[in-house]
Amino acid sequence: MQHIKVSELFYSIQGEGRYMGVPSVFLRTFGCNFECNGFGMAKGETSLERVAVAINAENYKDYKSLPLVSTGCDSYASWDPAFKHLSPVLTTDSIVSSIMDMLPGKRWQDEHLVITGGEPLLGWQRAYPELLTHEKMKPLKELTFETNGTQELTKEFRRWLHNDWHHDKGYFSVTFSVSPKLSISGEKWEDAIKPDIIAQYDEYGFTYLKFVIATKEDAEEAEEAVSLYRKAGFNGPVYLMPCGGVESLYNLNARNVATEAMNRGWRYSDRLQVPLFKNEWGT
Ligand code: SF4
Repeated sequence: MQHIKVSELFYSIQGEGRYMGVPSVFLRTFGCNFECNGFGMAKGETSLERVAVAINAENYKDYKSLPLVSTGCDSYASWDPAFKHLSPVLTTDSIVSSIMDMLPGKRWQDEHLVITGGEPLLGWQRAYPELLTHEKMKPLKELTFETNGTQELTKEFRRWLHNDWHHDKGYFSVTFSVSPKLSISGEKWEDAIKPDIIAQYDEYGFTYLKFVIATKEDAEEAEEAVSLYRKAGFNGPVYLMPCGGVESLYNLNARNVATEAMNRGWRYSDRLQVPLFKNEWGT
């Protein structure tokens, strides 16, 4: 049986992107290839908040007790090795059983599954076919991978997506919600912007781009990235979403970000988890 190291598994409302407002189960896998320490910081600076929390990692026994950080990656505990003790390695059977327990009807109805991270397309691709073909997962109709857009789909996973899953299920939809990391994240352009990989996702599911930005300059940088993605064959929609895991920061730039999106004929994505749930862990 396959195993996945699971950071969080919870039921909430999807706050971002195409499925905003849809009741969703979130499976957050452990591990990421980035750190994104730049979010919420002046250009070129990095968050020391996460590092300060990580120094005391052993004091935290569960996700609920972890502090929220206002700068850097807001899901830091899903990849920082200091917090790996909070993320159990679970069999696909036990993940399915926990999902059934948290669904209001104890089975899939109109809910949607989000596989997120960290970066969910790292090694865990090998476990998804077994997870998603479990008998109790059959009624699931809509699935999103939330990814940073740097990980190729493996040959085996592509074959499975293409041959086995779609064709068995009748109505079924897989979405790749790609959040490419601009310089505001602190990651390097050459590591983060991978047009061929996004073109590959586009072949296997509905794919859209969702850029987290704070300024007009960030929006211009997104434009540059989008032109490379388009050249590689990407055809889907583009969203801009305000930076800010805490309400004070998010409120500051939401309207400007909406204007930048409108100016380009792009879509605006809210982050409903911030006003609704204060971006707490488990939301
Ligand atoms: S890619 Fe996402 S999960 Fe990974 S460090 Fe950046 S914001 Fe956090």
